[in-house]
Amino acid sequence: SIDFKWIRDNKDAVATNIRNRNSNADLELVLELYAKMLDLQKEVERLRGERNVVANKMKGKLEPSERQKLIEEGKNLKEGLVTLEEDLLRLTDELQQEAQCIPNMTHPDVPIGDEDCSTVRTTVGSPREFSFPIKDHLQLGKELDLFDFDAAAKVSGSKFYYLKNEAVMLEMALTNWTVSEVIKRGFIPLITPEIVRSSVVEKCGFQPRGENTQVYSIEGSDQCLVGTAEIPVGGIHMDSILADSQLPLKYVAFSHCFRTEAGAAGTASRGLYRVHQFSKVEMFVLCRPEESDSYHEELIRIEEELFSLLGLHFKTLDMATADLGAPAYRKFDVEAWMPGLGRYGEISSASNCTDYQSRRLGIRYRPSEPPSSTTPKKGKGNVPTQFVHTLNATACAVPRMIVCILENYQQEDGSVKIPEPLRPFMGGLEQISPK
Ligand code: AMP
Repeated sequence: SIDFKWIRDNKDAVATNIRNRNSNADLELVLELYAKMLDLQKEVERLRGERNVVANKMKGKLEPSERQKLIEEGKNLKEGLVTLEEDLLRLTDELQQEAQCIPNMTHPDVPIGDEDCSTVRTTVGSPREFSFPIKDHLQLGKELDLFDFDAAAKVSGSKFYYLKNEAVMLEMALTNWTVSEVIKRGFIPLITPEIVRSSVVEKCGFQPRGENTQVYSIEGSDQCLVGTAEIPVGGIHMDSILADSQLPLKYVAFSHCFRTEAGAAGTASRGLYRVHQFSKVEMFVLCRPEESDSYHEELIRIEEELFSLLGLHFKTLDMATADLGAPAYRKFDVEAWMPGLGRYGEISSASNCTDYQSRRLGIRYRPSEPPSSTTPKKGKGNVPTQFVHTLNATACAVPRMIVCILENYQQEDGSVKIPEPLRPFMGGLEQISPK
């Protein structure tokens, strides 16, 4: 349930936010549809009232002519109501559709502007200095026989790949190590469905249809392939009221991710950097509203710990308004140094979505104490429910992590060292050597 009344009452702030975030949401249209909907609701209520009056009159003793008149009147009212109720349903649908585009409000500390305005929060390590000519992950992969892009192009299309030999073990080691590290920090592990209903995608704040959609829809059904585990995890508790004692709920989920990458042409996307299908370990938190900022900090700290343990050089950024997805109130990205590509590349993203997703998904909780602003009423059941806050953060997006590892850990003899923490997950393998 989107809070249209709040949007109407805070029109100027919402309009500024839409502008700052470079969003194409049409606030005027949303407010116009909302006003029409309210009018129509009133009219429906009025007709329902009249119909009840007629129905009550019919219960009494009546002359046959009077009864006949009332029957006629009731029939007309019913027909009018059916038409109006259909109009109301259509209008509500249109309003919801338009309102999907309105982005979440923004944390006051977020820099306003496009990507260049994002600010660096922390920098860990420094670029490794090489005493020999370096290769990018594509060349390393070719020489070490780790991928097959050509076969994948024949079988699936461009931007697909086969992983081979040690790269297969590396993907599994990365996911197993990451999941086990995040479990140690109190998260519940999940493997999710990878086909979900389009309505759930929409409620999570993504657009499953349209020209620039990133989502693969399944023809002849109302289902899509997941672009991220955030969607099936977000959906677990939809349409439910959680107990205060259940919060926070922290999940770490493995899934494959499928993305059309519409509109990504021309962006630096060689080899494994931007592909249509990849494995990812995602963290997802549901918490009390007053705690979401501190869980956001916890999520970025976990990411920093994981990437430090893997020995990467990276920086974390507070992303500027124009770079925030619609559901995010604030987003911290991590960009790691990829020496072969000769630049930093985004490896993870942590967003606080506040109540944007929970309102649409219908995830509430019942606080044990009423908020201080409301007068407590007697009885536990009277504490009003509230929407939880949701957060999501990448723990490991495998392909870009493979890029980082191959390019940062390459040796002069053409081999690649395996980062220490992953070795136990690869049968003790210390390096990938030319065959
Ligand atoms: P996002 O869910 O868009 O925030 O993406 C999370 C992470 O997944 C990014 O930080 C990247 O590391 C990775 N990623 C996103 N899109 C792709 C892609 N098309 N190919 C490979 N990795 C990707």
